[in-house]
Amino acid sequence: MVVAPSQVEQQNWTPAASAQLYGLDQWGDPYFSVNARGHVLVQPRGDRGGSLDLVELVEGLQSRDLQLPLLIRFEDILEDRLERLHGAFERAIAQYGYGGHYQGVFPVKCNQQRHVVEQLVESGRRWHFGLEAGSKAELLIALSLLDDPKALLICNGYKDQRYIETAILARQLGRQPVVVIEQADEVPRIIEASRNLGAAPLIGVRAKLSTRSTGRWGSSVGEKAKFGLSIPDLLATVEALRDADLLGDLRLLHFHIGSQICDIAVLKDALQEAGQLYVQLASLGAPMGFLDVGGGLGVDYDGSRSATAASTNYSLQNYANDVVATIRECCEPQGVAVPTLVSESGRAIASHFSVLVFNVLGQSGVNQPTIPEAVDGEALIVRNLRETLSGIGPDNLQEAWNDALKFKDDALAAFRLGYLSLTERGKAEQLYWACCSAIADLLPGDEELPDELKGLKAAFASTYYANLSVFRSAPDTWAIDQLFPVMPIHRLQEQPRELGSFADLTCDSDGKLARFIASGSAKPLLELHELKDGEPYWIGLFLGGAYQEVMGNLHNLFGSTNAVSIRLSPGGPYRVEHVVRGQTNSDVLEAMEHNPEALLERLRQASEEAIGSGDLSISAARRLMQHLEGSLRQTTYLEDSSPG
Ligand code: PLP
Repeated sequence: MVVAPSQVEQQNWTPAASAQLYGLDQWGDPYFSVNARGHVLVQPRGDRGGSLDLVELVEGLQSRDLQLPLLIRFEDILEDRLERLHGAFERAIAQYGYGGHYQGVFPVKCNQQRHVVEQLVESGRRWHFGLEAGSKAELLIALSLLDDPKALLICNGYKDQRYIETAILARQLGRQPVVVIEQADEVPRIIEASRNLGAAPLIGVRAKLSTRSTGRWGSSVGEKAKFGLSIPDLLATVEALRDADLLGDLRLLHFHIGSQICDIAVLKDALQEAGQLYVQLASLGAPMGFLDVGGGLGVDYDGSRSATAASTNYSLQNYANDVVATIRECCEPQGVAVPTLVSESGRAIASHFSVLVFNVLGQSGVNQPTIPEAVDGEALIVRNLRETLSGIGPDNLQEAWNDALKFKDDALAAFRLGYLSLTERGKAEQLYWACCSAIADLLPGDEELPDELKGLKAAFASTYYANLSVFRSAPDTWAIDQLFPVMPIHRLQEQPRELGSFADLTCDSDGKLARFIASGSAKPLLELHELKDGEPYWIGLFLGGAYQEVMGNLHNLFGSTNAVSIRLSPGGPYRVEHVVRGQTNSDVLEAMEHNPEALLERLRQASEEAIGSGDLSISAARRLMQHLEGSLRQTTYLEDSSPG
């Protein structure tokens, strides 16, 4: 339903009001804001100057034949995230007089795209920023892209003999791979591989901390954690390495208490436990030198700065301060030299830099109800609804809503029992919606609304059909109820008068975006604009640069979207650095072992038969083949699909 905006409301609405409504001032800072034209503005270098109008950027990309849905990667943001991370640790190290330094790594699992990893290696060179691999394929990426001999290559995950030997040999290549022992059974394999090759890797141990963690990834710690050595296993490992003459290569202690740590208190406990473990390992004779605090540095997706799943109750600086101060407090009193601090922050580095922009294909909702004309002899239920409608006023909204609901239910029951004709049931429904509409027009603001009347607002919500697959582009929204900021990227000078959620292109009822950030808890509906004939409506999904691209799947055979890397340019507003075309229908068919050519040939033969039997004309057959051939070359998403 469209509630006609009053002149006054429309005039009073400002882009700033939209920024507040969508929480942009909180989660968007310092990269995203709204400009006077009501467009999302991107400041890819944060507060260091330079900005891009996101709508103009999308238009510019469309004119280069890059259609929506489009994943836009801002390389400057990625660089800025690295700078902020290093800046925070540098400040903390100076503030606490820490006698060591910080040297982070990027966990490749977070986003393995070549351009992304290459850029991180390049931008991180000045800090000897390294990579973390969790599998043999990721090790291959890290080995080939990380050419800085001082950067760390942390080797995590399950390891077979080949993985371990590759890491040992890479050390001889002049790299710094650290094989982190995550399972007790890796110890004999490392010892054997070192004996066979006559060389040892740099060795790390991952501790299973007993600190209690919280949130979705809370089970990454404790006795039942998938990875890490228990204290007895840790002690046995030290002795086994000593016996094999490898203790001198034990250089790193690692822990990871789960992704998206929401509560800083949890991290502090873990740091204290790990700090003491580090001291003990040093006192057992291991040279050590590195303490790797893992991933987990969180992202404030909803901007609430709270210890809830979509937020964090700490800042980046707060995180760095606690790591530095706690480890110093553990080491110094024991006379143990403080370690080089390593973190494997993925989400905190890669979330902000990519924005997914998709278009809306259409909208379904409740139409403006028409009131059926009254006739003599109408059923009592219909008359009751008419009376309810005519009596609606600002003082009886709740009562009128209760009555309308009751009479609608009565009408259904009467129809089921055969006491109400189909025509009268139709009238009852029209009158019910007319009541809802009249009540909705008189409703006060959300804060003053009784819970039951909030349900009425939801009844009018629209479904916006989105040209995307959540399974491909935002899988965590489906798999783990992850919240991302989602909002229109234009028309922000207009008050959004609709409530709605998004349904994606897949024929799966789970294929939807129906949880949105809100202060307190998530909300099921988002404030959106009414679609205008012939005009596109573009929506941005923000902060999805970590994990979404790589975890996305081919459900319903919707493939990757077009992706572009953008850089602010000194000579113009921006430069398109890289274009990665989305998968075509042919690509996704091949991914499922189909042969597109054979498939076409089979259909060509079928059309010949149909021509022969007179069921299909030659021109229709040609048209069909043209469509099929064209589809194979095209993206899996809908083309040229603005509403109107
Ligand atoms: N390190 C390890 C061992 C992980 O398992 C993960 C992911 O869960 C990370 C680092 C990255 O974590 P985050 O993205 O929360 O920084």
